[in-house]
Amino acid sequence: MAQYDVIVIGAGPGGYVAAIRCAQLGLKTACVEGRGTLGGTCLNVGCIPSKALLHASHQLHEAEHNFEKMGLKGAAPKIDWKQMLAYKDDVVAGNTKGIEFLFKKNKVDWIKGWASIPAAGKVQVGDETHEAKNIIVATGSEASSIPGVEIDEKVVVSSTGALELPKVPKKLVVIGAGVIGLELGSVYARLGSEVTVVEFLDQITPGMDAEVQKTFQRMLKKQGLKFVMGAAVQKVDATKTKAKVSYKLRKDDSEATLDADVVLVATGRKPFTDGLGLDALGVETSPRGQIQTDGHWRTNVPGIYAIGDAIDGPMLAHKAEDEGMACAEVIAGKAGHVNYDVIPGVIYTAPEVASVGKTEQQLKEEGRAYKIGKFPFMGNARAKAVFQGEGFVKLLADAETDRVLGCHIIGPSAGDLIHEICVAMEFGASAEDVALTCHAHPTFSEAVREAALACGDGAIHV
Ligand code: NAD
Repeated sequence: MAQYDVIVIGAGPGGYVAAIRCAQLGLKTACVEGRGTLGGTCLNVGCIPSKALLHASHQLHEAEHNFEKMGLKGAAPKIDWKQMLAYKDDVVAGNTKGIEFLFKKNKVDWIKGWASIPAAGKVQVGDETHEAKNIIVATGSEASSIPGVEIDEKVVVSSTGALELPKVPKKLVVIGAGVIGLELGSVYARLGSEVTVVEFLDQITPGMDAEVQKTFQRMLKKQGLKFVMGAAVQKVDATKTKAKVSYKLRKDDSEATLDADVVLVATGRKPFTDGLGLDALGVETSPRGQIQTDGHWRTNVPGIYAIGDAIDGPMLAHKAEDEGMACAEVIAGKAGHVNYDVIPGVIYTAPEVASVGKTEQQLKEEGRAYKIGKFPFMGNARAKAVFQGEGFVKLLADAETDRVLGCHIIGPSAGDLIHEICVAMEFGASAEDVALTCHAHPTFSEAVREAALACGDGAIHV
């Protein structure tokens, strides 16, 4: 029987990062993973493969729409779907093998198999029981469907099946205009599918800044996505090759149907803790299945911790990673900390959408006096040069102190630009601090500075 200081269950971004940090802090560490490769949902069937397809389909879009303008002539590329999937699989394999290398480098043992926790201090994998002073549950999440909709991963798919379709569907219906629905919906729209997104609410991407929501939806419509808003999907009737999606409009209860070759169910995810034995152990969970933890990722059972999608908070790989590092530090007797007020959110469409901190709506609800600095990418020379002049940076700052409270960006490289504001917020910076920082010309990041200037005496290039 092997004995460890820490056993991490699950090797997604939360789990593998926790395991590496534990080992770096001198703790004898193992990580249990039942999937054939490390990296969890994110690396295997989530963030990474979808980014490969987003990249490939964006290149096609550029070839079809912008090459000729730049004097690049010739027939637009044809899609070799098998090769595109192979490229995606290569990207995944490179990344998952990278985690294996990091485990070896840091002397983290990979225990292969599915774990359960028969008692605090014990982890069962197959016939073997391993002992650990501390256990970190990092088992992530799974797609959650809605009543009347059964996912078969062939015709009615979750994001996992959507990354493995045998061919590009002619008609794709996406249920849910959240992050997954819009990222994958835009991939298939660019590859030639007729994409219709059915969303329960009246806006896309719930929780986002309202101006960004509107601009984003307008841009997606221009890219060919159709939207049915305020519609509750009632059921999906599927055969082996087709499906019919029935929905009811909330405003008048009228009913309608949509035909599809493939239906993508993107209505959220739920914690995945099956088979761990949490009930028998007495580990408290919420009605939504999230493991309850204190401010330091401890569950109510001593020696058992939980992080990532399996607990409360945004289901984001980077949130899980931060919790993994902080939890490792707590176990090692250090002061692990995650600032939940500064966790960026990014949607990897083209253009990208990114946000951090408060939205304008939240500030209004809090009754906080704020000012807005907004700058359109149309005023950014670099963005215009690469046909990406649509969108804007919107910076929110305290009306009195000028402290940066939030930022919302829709435009080129938004997912990278947002981090300037994350750092500014961590340092308690004012909009003026950002405005007074020299930004290289010509870069997209000048748009962030201009938004900061717009919080003061005004932007220059608008
Ligand atoms: P989501 O919560 O982002 O969006 C789900 C959408 O489905 C909502 O807009 C909701 O109103 C709608 N919906 C629910 N029931 C419906 C019904 N019956 N009919 C019509 N619409 C309905 O969920 P998601 O897009 O599935 O993503 C799951 C999780 O994964 C999220 O927490 C997300 O943040 C995370 N994720 C993040 C990224 C990223 O950061 N880029 C990428 C993928 C997934």
